[in-house]
This record gives sequence, C-alpha cells and structure tokens, in this order.
Amino acid sequence: MLKNWVVVPTCLPLVLRRCHACASERFRASGRFRVNANHKLIDAWLLALCTACGETAKLTVLERMNVRSVRPELLDRLHDNDPGLTGELLQDPVVQRRNRIALDWDDAWRLDTGGSDHLDREVIDVSVRFAARIPVRPVRLIAEGCGLSRAEVDRLVTEGKLVSAVRLSGKLSGDFTFTLKR
Ligand SMILES: [Zn+2]
Repeated sequence: MLKNWVVVPTCLPLVLRRCHACASERFRASGRFRVNANHKLIDAWLLALCTACGETAKLTVLERMNVRSVRPELLDRLHDNDPGLTGELLQDPVVQRRNRIALDWDDAWRLDTGGSDHLDREVIDVSVRFAARIPVRPVRLIAEGCGLSRAEVDRLVTEGKLVSAVRLSGKLSGDFTFTLKR
C-alpha cells in the first residue's frame, strides 16, 4: 500500500540572526518591505523584528539594482507588501547567503498524512513530499505519522523493518520514501 505524506508550512519560519541591540538570535518577518529608488538605482529590504526587543533588521532583497533590470511584477509585489513574497524571499538561497541568515522552522510546519487508515497494515510504502525546504529528521516524521514512539522507530530501524534509501536519523529537507514492515 502506497501512502503520500506531505510536510507543509503552517506559518513563516523565524529568521536566525543576532540582534545588535539585545543579542537575541531570532527575528520575525514583519511582512513589510522598504523600497528606496534613487535615480535609476533601487534598493529593497525585507523588514524583520527582533522577537525579544522589537529592533528592526533590514534584510537586503535588492542592492543598487538598475530599476529596468528588475521584473515589474517583483516591484509591484514589494510595493504592495505582498504576503506570499516574504515566504518566498526567506527561502531563497541567494537572500539567505547575502544576509547570512538561516531559518528556524520549529512549530512552523505540520505533517499531513491523509488519515490514519494505514496504521494497521503489515507493510506500507510511504512517499514523503516537502512543500517547502523544512529540515526535519525522518525518524521524527515517521514516529508522528505512524503513531509510534521515537524508541519504537529506532528499534524498527535496527531490526531492518524500517528501510529507506536516506539516512533516517539525520536531518532532511527534501522528498524521500520509506517502507515499514511489521
Ligand atoms: Zn533584540
């Protein structure tokens, strides 16, 4: 029996970055952008607020770009504080590298298993898809999706009853499959 599970974001991840004002390490995206056009050059930032003291951090989205080289659709979304754009930009590897940020996805996702009718099957094949690149340990997903404890999942791996082409104990943020035999 093949099951499809999906790891889906439920809200925006926090931004991991040190606050210059209070040394906290987490920011929450404000959902707002600041755009500054100077002659033909444009800068744009995504504004984030320190979760501890409220200090604003500006994450660079565009840096001294020629206005004509920026897609008009992107400009519109920046000016409109488009709600979906924040999530897209936070997950953009270029934006992450440029601002030296990482994301904290704790409590910002859920596992959608499409029901629990698989739990009493002897053998199940599960295909897990990630709707966003959310780093999670497969053993944790399997425990949650199959209603097992982490210790039970570890035992099934040791006994060869839970198999996958990926390392189930490490963190993963891309699609994988596994087979569980009981
Ligand atoms: Zn702070």
